[in-house]
Amino acid sequence: MYHKPDLDLALINKDISNYDFTGKNILIRSCLNVIIDKLGNITDNTRLIEALPTLRLLAEKANSIVIMAHLGRPTTARENEFSLENVRKELEVALKEPVIMLNNEEEIRNLSNSKRNNKYYLIENIRFFEGEESQDPEKQTKFAELLASTSDIYVNDAFPDYREAVSTYTIAKHLKSFLGCLFIAEIKSINYFQSPTRPFVAVMGGAKLSEKLDTLYKLLEVADKVVIGGAMAYTMLKASGKEIGKSLCEEDKIQIAKEMLEKYSAKIILPVDHLVGDNFSESTTIKNTDSADILPDQIGLDIGTETIKLYTEIISSAKSILWNGPMGVFEWASCENGTKEIGKAIVENQESFKFAGGGDSIAAINKFNLTGFNHISTGGGAMLSYIAKDSFPTLEVILD
Ligand code: AMP
Repeated sequence: MYHKPDLDLALINKDISNYDFTGKNILIRSCLNVIIDKLGNITDNTRLIEALPTLRLLAEKANSIVIMAHLGRPTTARENEFSLENVRKELEVALKEPVIMLNNEEEIRNLSNSKRNNKYYLIENIRFFEGEESQDPEKQTKFAELLASTSDIYVNDAFPDYREAVSTYTIAKHLKSFLGCLFIAEIKSINYFQSPTRPFVAVMGGAKLSEKLDTLYKLLEVADKVVIGGAMAYTMLKASGKEIGKSLCEEDKIQIAKEMLEKYSAKIILPVDHLVGDNFSESTTIKNTDSADILPDQIGLDIGTETIKLYTEIISSAKSILWNGPMGVFEWASCENGTKEIGKAIVENQESFKFAGGGDSIAAINKFNLTGFNHISTGGGAMLSYIAKDSFPTLEVILD
């Protein structure tokens, strides 16, 4: 997990809430990566809503705010589906002020050279610009200089966008830099787990063990128990000698799972029964197994009732809980029970610090109306990386 001596103090020094930015022009990287349908219409605006407090706080004193953000993964310079135009419209409604789109480098340059009549400007999807993700240092610098020319100060509030690009990383070397409220809230909440109140229980689920291996290792070092569900449990179960039938399994991770099980046998808790079907289909007939083994012609789709009881007991006695990933194919009504019951067990533990992160965990939290978390991370991948690795470049570049 990212660690720095006196991190709390360093965060205070970089926290926008502690400064008066009267009259300044501020360049901010927000996370406005909302969920869109194929036509580009916004279907879930959670991230936009979460970005507002920092924008509003800055707007109280600043002369202007130039917002940078990306949407989706455009592959060419300008794919209309990934335009921020719908985001711009929603921002205007939420902020009750005009938000002026800057569509290209020329419009960005013109802003730098002219008097500003508006408070908010939004640069079109930052990934439409060649410089943003270029590996060429000259192009990176040129783009960073252009962006920097618009403002006096840079603020990063986009914790989920943790990869090193110009708008999340290089730019911090060109302007005096600070952190937004949401970024700081994310860091503080995850850092809680460096010295959590015990027992600390991590609840890990989801599809692929491979994507969470490093994080799992780190959690096993610090947690008292790690309960595992979702498809990733089957690779672990197979490594422990159980029969898993047709369940999802990453064969190339069995060896590492075996080593993990040997080293942390007292901490890793695996399902003791399952909901199984005949195939991976929503209409398959679901049965509860009576042991941890799965028959050769069956596939595991959710944790079973005995596992729910076992996990609930462990979760109920925890004082700190971190949750990432569903316990089963929670998108299907027939296989939602494991994730729903485990989610309920977490929020019903009122004595504990409760943290959840990851797109599917958030979807489950919304689906089952689970309220009472101390923090819900907007960045699943960022959160896993922050826990797994010793460095977090987009934060370090500002703190150093
Ligand atoms: P992740 O993105 O790694 O957190 O994985 C989330 C996905 O894992 C969800 O779409 C779930 O439907 C899926 N999932 C959970 N349990 C299973 C399972 N037993 N078999 C197949 N997929 C699963």
